Amino acid sequence: MLEKLNDLELEFLRQIREIDQIDQLNDLRVKLLGRKGEITQILRGLKEISADQRAEVGRVANEIKERIESKLQQRSGELKCLALDERLRAETIDVTLPGIPFTRGGKHPLTQIREEIQDIFIGMGFTVAEGPEIELDYYNFEALNVPKDHPARDMQDSFYISEDVLLRTHTSPVQVRTMEAMAPQLPVRIIVPGKVYRKDDDATHSPMFQQIEGLLVDTAINFAHLKAVLMTFAHRIFGEEVQVRYRPSFFPFTEPSAEMDISCVNCGGEGCRVCSYTGWLEILGAGMVHPQVLRYGGYDPEKVSGFAFGMGIERIAMLKYGVNDLRLFFDNDQRFLEQF
Ligand SMILES: [Zn+2]
Repeated sequence: MLEKLNDLELEFLRQIREIDQIDQLNDLRVKLLGRKGEITQILRGLKEISADQRAEVGRVANEIKERIESKLQQRSGELKCLALDERLRAETIDVTLPGIPFTRGGKHPLTQIREEIQDIFIGMGFTVAEGPEIELDYYNFEALNVPKDHPARDMQDSFYISEDVLLRTHTSPVQVRTMEAMAPQLPVRIIVPGKVYRKDDDATHSPMFQQIEGLLVDTAINFAHLKAVLMTFAHRIFGEEVQVRYRPSFFPFTEPSAEMDISCVNCGGEGCRVCSYTGWLEILGAGMVHPQVLRYGGYDPEKVSGFAFGMGIERIAMLKYGVNDLRLFFDNDQRFLEQF
């Protein structure tokens, strides 16, 4: 019996070398190890063998069975590899076929401008601060020296959620929030980019737009510092050749307040449609932080001073890129967006 088992294994080893198809491999498996397979039958017939041989034959038969199974598995793996190789060789690539076009995305022009503005101020030592878009009336108005019934509230028609909660109308609330968190540390030197909301909707106003706010509080800060920082900004973003001028203005949270104009980027100051034939373009509002706002922020206006400014990111983008309708930025027409 042992001899027969030995012969079966030798015969198996000879056959498996000649096999080059998976289904032939299966046939061989069935022939030996299947329900009626030769090895299976020997194992099944063990009880008919004399007791002294039974253990030995059973052990050898099982060992051979294991070896055969592992050999079958190994060969099956080899054949699968070969089959894959062959298929890959058969499938040639036609390099003359046109490729699949790959459209590369880009940053939205407003994002590009916002990052550019941020980088300019970060380069001057400012850090980026953020605040909530759903804001308390307290931070949006009251702590900025705009009490209830103040006429300045009329300039900003707001979206109210409740009597005390609204969508912020400017990024200025973050001034007081930051000062509260930092006081009495100095300097406070932040810019605040973010979305703001007002009930406006026309070619130059959108109900949602973005501002960048700036705030610098330290000892002995004066208007000259404000001018230097904003002039540097204007030159970096619009070019060294632009002129800058300040006009007196009014904001409840700064005193004195000013609007900053730059010489028209379209006509260079000659006068054109873009600048309404004045030669100047208004780009931001600024001023020295009102003592009351410093107090709300936790600072003593007798000891520290500061300046603040705010600008619309869309406005800067329109001027820099020569876009005449704000709504183009929000239409998401690729033909427009691809130009930036
Ligand atoms: Zn002009």
